Amino acid sequence: MSIHRVDVAIVGAGLMGSCAAWQLASRGLTVAVLEAYEVGHDHGSSHGRSRSFRRAYADPLYAAMTGLALEQWQRLQDESGTQLLTGTGGIDHGPDYDTETLSSLMTAHGVPNELLSARQAEIRWPGMRFETDAIFHTCAGVFDPESTIVATTSLAAAAGAEIMPMTRVVDANVAPSGEVALHSSGGDQIIADFAVLTTGAWLPDFSSAVAEFAGNSEPVLPPLTIRQQQTFHFALRPGEDSLPTFVHKNGKQMYGMPSGSDVPVPAMKVGCFHDGDVTTTEVRDQRITDEQRQAVVDYVSEWMPALDPTPLAESSGLITMTPDGDFILDRSGPLVVAATCSGHGAKFAPLIGSMIADLVTGAAQPTPRFQMDRGASAH
Ligand SMILES: Cc1cc2nc3c(=O)[nH]c(=O)nc-3n(C[C@H](O)[C@H](O)[C@H](O)COP(=O)(O)OP(=O)(O)OC[C@H]3O[C@@H](n4cnc5c(N)ncnc54)[C@H](O)[C@@H]3O)c2cc1C
Repeated sequence: MSIHRVDVAIVGAGLMGSCAAWQLASRGLTVAVLEAYEVGHDHGSSHGRSRSFRRAYADPLYAAMTGLALEQWQRLQDESGTQLLTGTGGIDHGPDYDTETLSSLMTAHGVPNELLSARQAEIRWPGMRFETDAIFHTCAGVFDPESTIVATTSLAAAAGAEIMPMTRVVDANVAPSGEVALHSSGGDQIIADFAVLTTGAWLPDFSSAVAEFAGNSEPVLPPLTIRQQQTFHFALRPGEDSLPTFVHKNGKQMYGMPSGSDVPVPAMKVGCFHDGDVTTTEVRDQRITDEQRQAVVDYVSEWMPALDPTPLAESSGLITMTPDGDFILDRSGPLVVAATCSGHGAKFAPLIGSMIADLVTGAAQPTPRFQMDRGASAH
């Protein structure tokens, strides 16, 4: 058994843990990152080569965070010398949107946008079909989550952080010294002034530990629902131009974005938000049903004539949901818990890393809506 001693131990090296490692190490703290699998594995939420960055939020909290996130993406790209975020523009359309209101709110939040009629949108993007007005904002795009994890863990390691793959934390408790003691399945012990839990869909495994740090015998975490979300890649037909990222709300919430290097030809990744079954990290099987695949193929056939509706590739990932849809980003003594719930957290990752570092160092207090126990402030 070996004993490590660090300022901050981070459990989980997905997008949130790796960005936290970069931000904390760059503030001069000694950091260890404990990851149960190889870094960049496909069992959680951060694998694949494309996630959308969009600023079309009606909610002022998230709208403001997209602007701050953009600054942190720029900083990460500058420091790593890697282009991670590619501008594509973003479209929001469909009858379940109040496009006029959303467009005005985006303008009020400082996000330039255009409101186009369905006809104007179809002229601009003949590879898509529109049934309602559409909002277009230019400062949307796609980024590569796996390259982001490589960039942030590399920067963290260069600043002295220890990245520990294949190190599963099986217990977390308060050491007699008042510090945090983490115990790995291999028998290692990590003693840290602070521990950060960025374990995504595995956060429920730490429910008792979080309660212990809060000095509470009852669970402190809000109830979490885990879903498996599937996405499919469709090749652009010959001669078709690449399309912006989009969200189309018409009874269901369909979304898409240009595929990354996980497929060999120009393609779009398309999915149906929340079509996945409720599951747990123990029982999920990554199996995609014919029904789930067919629903997306039918959508592409009807709404995206630019695409060949035969999927080139498919993938599944885990989405963690809180009852109110808000993130968890809170501190309880020496324990910080960060879970970007509801399937839209990736775009905020470099900012979440910074917010985690602020909680650890005491530079900021938790955002009330992101507190674990937020009964009074939940919306
Ligand atoms: C299919 C899909 C599409 C998405 N699309 C978008 C999008 O377009 N735009 C957007 O903004 N967001 C999107 N999201 C959401 C976004 O990807 C997630 O919010 C983000 O990846 C969550 O990262 P995380 O680090 O919290 O979790 P994870 O990436 O799951 O990382 C958690 C890590 O903790 C590790 N771990 C767990 N338990 C332990 C333990 N006991 N010991 C050590 N390590 C442990 C796990 O192995 C894992 O590596 C999407 C999500 C999915 C699933």
